[in-house]
Amino acid sequence: MTLPSLPGHPHIHYQNGLLQVEDQNLDALATEYGTPLFVYSKASMLAALAAYQRGFAGRNAQICYAMKANSSLAVLQVFARAGCGFDIVSGGELERVLAAGADVSKVIFSGVGKTRTEMQRALEAGIGCFNVESEAEIEVLNTVAVALNLRAPISIRVNPNVDPKTHPYISTGLKGNKFGIAHERTLATYQRAAALPGLHVVGIDCHIGSQITLEAPYLDAMDRMLDLVESIEAAGIPIEHIDFGGGLGINYAGDTPPAADALWAKLLAKLDARGFGQRKLMIEPGRSLVGNAGVCVTEVLYMKPGEQKNFCIVDAAMNDLPRPAMYQAFHNIVPLNESQQAGSSADVFDVVGPVCESGDWIGHDRALAVQAGDRLAVLSAGAYCMSMSSNYNSRPRAAEVLVDGPQAHLIRARDTLADQLRGEKLL
Ligand SMILES: *Cc1c(COP(=O)(O)O)cnc(C)c1O
Repeated sequence: MTLPSLPGHPHIHYQNGLLQVEDQNLDALATEYGTPLFVYSKASMLAALAAYQRGFAGRNAQICYAMKANSSLAVLQVFARAGCGFDIVSGGELERVLAAGADVSKVIFSGVGKTRTEMQRALEAGIGCFNVESEAEIEVLNTVAVALNLRAPISIRVNPNVDPKTHPYISTGLKGNKFGIAHERTLATYQRAAALPGLHVVGIDCHIGSQITLEAPYLDAMDRMLDLVESIEAAGIPIEHIDFGGGLGINYAGDTPPAADALWAKLLAKLDARGFGQRKLMIEPGRSLVGNAGVCVTEVLYMKPGEQKNFCIVDAAMNDLPRPAMYQAFHNIVPLNESQQAGSSADVFDVVGPVCESGDWIGHDRALAVQAGDRLAVLSAGAYCMSMSSNYNSRPRAAEVLVDGPQAHLIRARDTLADQLRGEKLL
């Protein structure tokens, strides 16, 4: 029997009682490649992208995948082939998108702490735009560009001071955040940038936060951005493109973010109403393109009942899945074998990893009917998991598989010990 896809997870479903990603059985993949194992659905990524593409049909718009959500080369390649540009935040990310075949003229460089070396490399590569985040950065970028006899295309990231109503660590558009230039300083900063010989002002941008599930913060931010564009253009500085950042949320735990196309229908209506309908638009979605395209398969090592708490100890840990420890984030956890879905008799367990930290948990108070040796899938693991993973406790970074219909491609081999020790030297 085929059940519908898991909530929020197109292309991930039980088939004959076993969990599948597209046409691939996760238990078979785990046996072949070991656990913990990240498995992604290419169809799910392209479906998420298609929602944005539908939203922008007939518009002059560029989607730049914010690659820090998942920067594995084959994932970048999927988006590059689908026509995406990229939003990058480091020189390392630049080299990755180039290696994945991206069109560098569609790459934009965000981040509050770009180094001179990163600026130089991005300029020489022909980057599409620098999203500049401070008045000091404007001066440095100008100096670097003048020394290369180039002009750096820039957009200034403004802080619209709207509350996206998300976790404080992923809220980025409020006055107290380190990101962007304060609303009040925007015009003066544009005037300064326009006067510098090494810079070419092309746009304006904002990014108000992540895992946003409401429309209102976007609509508010858009109004404030358009007010700024009007004042900047009134001062004689043309703004070719407006970049609204990323941040759209996904369904982790019954969250109900707007669909990308529905959200953009409203935003575009506002742009049209305010006379900006023909302006070039850019967006920088990350999580919403990959988050629910991936799962992390993990094996139960030990069941450890206790007086106060029961623990289910699995072979994935905070080094593989850092979001619970970092943001108290919720990931749904389901058995690969549908018959092990918890019935009324199931006990409640904390699902934890082997790392020596009490912060190493993956899920609290989960009803489970599994035993040692059984396998679980941690859902919504496509974004901010592998890209944030580490070798803490000298654990190897997990392997990754990208499923494309009937085919499964190993896109990253599990770390070997040699990978971990590379570059280290004894005294
Ligand atoms: C992280 C980030 C994004 C993407 O955010 P998501 O919530 O993953 O969509 C976009 N733009 C900038 C500047 C970012 O730092």
